[in-house]
Amino acid sequence: MDRLLKELDIDKVGKELYALTERLYPICRSITGNGVRETLRIISEQIPIEVHEVPSGTQVFDWVIPKEWNIRDAYIKNSRGEKIVDFKNSNLHVLSYSTPVKGKFTLEELKEHLFTLPDHPEWIPYFTSYYRESWGFCLTHKQYEGLEDGEYEVLIDSTLEDGSLTYAQLLLEGDIEDEVLLSTYICHPSMCNDNLSGVALLTTLAKYLKDIKLKHSYRFLFIPETIGSITWLSRNEVEAFKIRHGLVATCVADSGTSTYKRTRNGNALIDKIVEKVLIDSDSPYEIIDFAPTGADERQFCYPGFNLSVGSLMRTPYVCYEQYHTSADDLSFIDPESFADSLEKYLGAIYIIEHNATYVNSGPKCEPQLGKRGLINAIGGQKDGKVDEMPIFWVLNFSDGTYSLLDIAVRSGVNFKYIKAAADALLSKNLLVKVDEHQTNPRMWSGSLNLST
Ligand code: ZN
Repeated sequence: MDRLLKELDIDKVGKELYALTERLYPICRSITGNGVRETLRIISEQIPIEVHEVPSGTQVFDWVIPKEWNIRDAYIKNSRGEKIVDFKNSNLHVLSYSTPVKGKFTLEELKEHLFTLPDHPEWIPYFTSYYRESWGFCLTHKQYEGLEDGEYEVLIDSTLEDGSLTYAQLLLEGDIEDEVLLSTYICHPSMCNDNLSGVALLTTLAKYLKDIKLKHSYRFLFIPETIGSITWLSRNEVEAFKIRHGLVATCVADSGTSTYKRTRNGNALIDKIVEKVLIDSDSPYEIIDFAPTGADERQFCYPGFNLSVGSLMRTPYVCYEQYHTSADDLSFIDPESFADSLEKYLGAIYIIEHNATYVNSGPKCEPQLGKRGLINAIGGQKDGKVDEMPIFWVLNFSDGTYSLLDIAVRSGVNFKYIKAAADALLSKNLLVKVDEHQTNPRMWSGSLNLST
């Protein structure tokens, strides 16, 4: 993993993330249907996902898998036969899950089925009607205001019939069964930050992680929001309890500040890890508490599971005006912010993989570091040697109770320098790793073992 981080070309990564988003952008997705399948097919070109189909009508806890929705075309034509709203120009124009319609309507009748955003007259809103059969069009308020009295021809060439709900997962097996969940939702049509950014980020992250040796197992989920996480949890109750840490990836590519939404418990290891990543990043960040709103963390953190799942994003959903509109487009996101988010996810994974607890093998006063070649210049790593401050911190606090993360947090030193210091001390036999399963980790014995 050290090599991966060292060799990561962050400009290239940003461009890759953006290009994948650009490719997925035109596809019309919903919580079921061929748009989701096509999205997963494109993802499968990069990572070996396993695609699952769950039939309509299947009970998943208190919910039932809905009918499958597909759409080929939709428009509104005015009395002169001109298409004034056209699905082919933007798939946001159709209320997601609209039932099929073909007919003529007066303006008054049509208006019952039109949705706009008066505050942003140039933007098309994104609305859905998954669980109540209905039809409708979303249009700009400018288009709406231009509608004349008269008869309108309306077509929604959609199908809503028994089929299935499609989701995908990828499990990267590590040395231990303890899992890290990385989940994102694939149900939103043409909008970039929410949530093609999450889809592209996790696809790219999995692509980088799949070829390296990992301690933990990593489970990637690409699911429709809400119904997808409920479906996955209801079918994988045993697997769910292997999840030790998790993050929901959403809204990760806008230029706003990185924001972390804590787990329901608020004091999980992942909370501490992500907070440390954000501190170490030396750029502004925000931390918000868990609330039972938002994305799939609502289900993963529901009390019967109460998994340690937080969400690392940039500007949170709802907090930016372009949210759920046509203005959440390719110009709203940028490769640099995208790559920065990916680096932060990798930073969290780096800590998950490398956090450990040690015991100083010579606790009675500081060992003489100079004769072991561990002390060098002050203020940084020179000639491959490690700065002494992290060494002092690791030695002093490695009493079997403080993990490297605890020491990094307490010292204010970047985790990677604390980890480098621990590696250097281990190489000189000055630390002994605490067995994670040992009940009483305090294990200093009377005899000191200070070999040089
Ligand atoms: Zn959304």
